[in-house]
Amino acid sequence: MPFVVDAMLGKLARWLRIIGHDTVYDPSLDDEALISMAKREGRTLVTRDANLFRRAAKEGAASLLINSHALPEELVEMSPALKEASAGSRCTLCNTPLIEVERSIISDEKVPKVSPLWLCPSCGKIYWHGGHWEGINRTLSVLRHG
Ligand SMILES: [Zn+2]
Repeated sequence: MPFVVDAMLGKLARWLRIIGHDTVYDPSLDDEALISMAKREGRTLVTRDANLFRRAAKEGAASLLINSHALPEELVEMSPALKEASAGSRCTLCNTPLIEVERSIISDEKVPKVSPLWLCPSCGKIYWHGGHWEGINRTLSVLRHG
């Protein structure tokens, strides 16, 4: 399920990308732009703003109201909508699907000699299973086991 996330929920938007969801997060979009994007692109609007939530529903856009004020509760609230998640498939910076690459094509010395590696073909960010993945897996296991 693709999402468009309102400006207050940046951290949640990043997590939706980490677990593989097509997620638009653009703090420059106002309420009207968020709703029209949700309708135009078939995205579910994710917001903590009850007024925006009601307005989206009235205008026929799919929307989800988040009541929690922290992760991972925000993700737990969303979990019914997250069934098709696949971890690590999107760039957390720009939402582009990642491609798996060989270490040998990466010239950056700071990238460890591990595999697999994933590359964002749009912004060039490189991902691998390291320190930040362990944090991600901890949060995901909280999500799965409550
Ligand atoms: Zn990227």
